[in-house]
Amino acid sequence: MRLPEHAAHAIRRLERAGFEAWAVGGCVRDSLRGVEPHDWDLCTSASPAQMQAVFADARVLTTGLRHGTLTVLTDGGPLEITTYRTEGGYSDGRHPDGVRFVTDIREDLARRDFTVGAMAWHPERGLCDPFGGQTDLKNGVLRAVGDADTRFQEDALRILRGLRFASKLGFAIEPETAAAMRRQVHRLDCIAAERIREELTGLLCGRYVQRTLMAYADLITSALPELAPMQGCQQQNPHHLYDVWEHTVRAVGQVPAEPVLRWAMLLHDSGKPACKTVDEQGIGHFRGHPRASLALSRKLLPRLRFSSADTERILLLVERHDTPLGDNEKLVRRSLSRIGEARFRDLLAIKKGDAVGQGTSRNYVAQLFETEALLNRVLAQEQCFSLRQLAVNGTDLQALGLRGRPVGEMLHALLDAVIDGQTDNRRETLLRLARTRMEEQHDK
Ligand code: ATP
Ligand code: MG
Repeated sequence: MRLPEHAAHAIRRLERAGFEAWAVGGCVRDSLRGVEPHDWDLCTSASPAQMQAVFADARVLTTGLRHGTLTVLTDGGPLEITTYRTEGGYSDGRHPDGVRFVTDIREDLARRDFTVGAMAWHPERGLCDPFGGQTDLKNGVLRAVGDADTRFQEDALRILRGLRFASKLGFAIEPETAAAMRRQVHRLDCIAAERIREELTGLLCGRYVQRTLMAYADLITSALPELAPMQGCQQQNPHHLYDVWEHTVRAVGQVPAEPVLRWAMLLHDSGKPACKTVDEQGIGHFRGHPRASLALSRKLLPRLRFSSADTERILLLVERHDTPLGDNEKLVRRSLSRIGEARFRDLLAIKKGDAVGQGTSRNYVAQLFETEALLNRVLAQEQCFSLRQLAVNGTDLQALGLRGRPVGEMLHALLDAVIDGQTDNRRETLLRLARTRMEEQHDK
């Protein structure tokens, strides 16, 4: 393992001043498994005031100092250094009642949630691993540090952190740890919605999301009770091989690991259980389910405090996941004029994920690739689908004598005519068409 220079330098400075310092947590875990850490955290025996003295000449952020964290702004990026600490009781199951600074790194490692993240490393002293993190890392196991029930009682967010790590690393959760998660999951009630959202988003974007969502479906639905009816909801339909939950999970795994796409995929069929009917032949139908999924998502997303931009994007994808985008240029232009290129591409991704997740419909997937080719052609040829591209504007129409609302109405009528291929997008043609329409209006 090699520390980047800015981290090694900070360790040297602290140790020359007579303190002890280590790299700790996720960066040690990731280096040991051969992955470049996204950041390096340090921990030290120096108290917050002593750290400040050591880094008196450096640029620092002191916002975390009460909890023992000093952020040093180095040339290699911000570096978080935290005084060894333990946490007091958790009477609210959410925040430690207080932190206590300590002098032994082992006490600091003991407060951390999973053994693979409870290791420290030093360039000369090597690995400090009192809880068998290295063995668990080798075996791909997530195990709570200490008594699992107690740890999840202290802070139920750790349950979702564990699922996020399982989804990101592909690790198995050690059976006693998983059992304790199940016993304590009701305590998620007292965790702030945005922290739940962040962990679930991390989980959804993990490489091993499918197996995590299948193996821990019950824990997921404790956090998102609205989704419980999807599990075991049989589709009874030749187009679908899986129940609604398994279909959804497969679809989630198909779309790019982008939060909005993954959430939209998770929610796209959430309204299905409420819409299910079975006909005389025993075939299941889910008429109107996109609206039902939309209604459910409209409640769920604000509860998790999604930004309004993300909420709107997700809702559009849920609402339209079953609406055709068009199998000819005219229809593609129409869709483009309604939703724009970015949403069109999002929807293509969602529809592909949905189709592959069904497990049957190769033809449908092929159709989607055709739609994508049409989209690319319409854009490459700069075909007109927006007012911005139209060869006439409001001023042109005013010159013909139109005023007020009819100007906008006429522009939209002309745009529709161009989109539908009734006319080309040339100025003279459009002005002639506008005059004809004005005369028609006048004659009525
Ligand atoms: P990532 O790669 O996702 O950043 P990480 O392990 O570094 O993973 P962080 O959330 O950055 O996770 O936390 C850093 C370290 O702090 C963790 O490795 C863990 O030891 C400890 N930690 C963070 N949050 C908690 C918590 N809620 N309970 C116990 N320990 C925690
Ligand atoms: Mg980290």
